[in-house]
Amino acid sequence: MQARRIDGRRKETGKCPECGAKMKKRTSYTGDREGKTAMVCSNYPKCRTVKWG
Ligand SMILES: [Zn+2]
Repeated sequence: MQARRIDGRRKETGKCPECGAKMKKRTSYTGDREGKTAMVCSNYPKCRTVKWG
């Protein structure tokens, strides 16, 4: 039996609706949203699209 590799297709990563770049998963460690996960545009800070999950 072989373990399946997950290559590049993650469900939780989508494209930025503003610029079409990839969204990155990040977790906030400070502030009101401490411990929460957000999707941040990889063009940040040029593009500031953030999706809170
Ligand atoms: Zn963007």
